[in-house]
Amino acid sequence: MRIKHTRSDGFEVEGWPVHVDAGRRQPLGIITHAHTDHAARHERIICTPETAMLLSGRWKQLGVRAVPFGQSVHLEGARVTLLRAGHILGSAMVRIELAGHTIVFTGDMRTQPSAFLAGAEAVENPHIGDVAGIIKEALSKK
Ligand SMILES: [Zn+2]
Repeated sequence: MRIKHTRSDGFEVEGWPVHVDAGRRQPLGIITHAHTDHAARHERIICTPETAMLLSGRWKQLGVRAVPFGQSVHLEGARVTLLRAGHILGSAMVRIELAGHTIVFTGDMRTQPSAFLAGAEAVENPHIGDVAGIIKEALSKK
């Protein structure tokens, strides 16, 4: 299973036509949270209801399927679940179960609780073959 990441196309799993946090418009994209470096105005968007609300203030008439935390949806042959990331209101990690693998894209995340949000949820049993299947965002301070 090949996974790649570019700013414009986001995270991609080979053979699966869904982009996560792509920087440019895609036919179908999952947006982990409403910060501008993670969101683009895709034709169809999957995100949490909170992220949909925040994006609606920026863009009108979005094609959004809002998926609450912990609820799984079937998407292009995969089972997708959004998990709390603890970063900002509505921020989600994306758990993708596809072809016997379980991959988790964290997006921006925070493990410790803040004044307003619980920390990120624990993720159970992610795997790509025999390897832990967690793809974590890395932030740097300048
Ligand atoms: Zn962010």
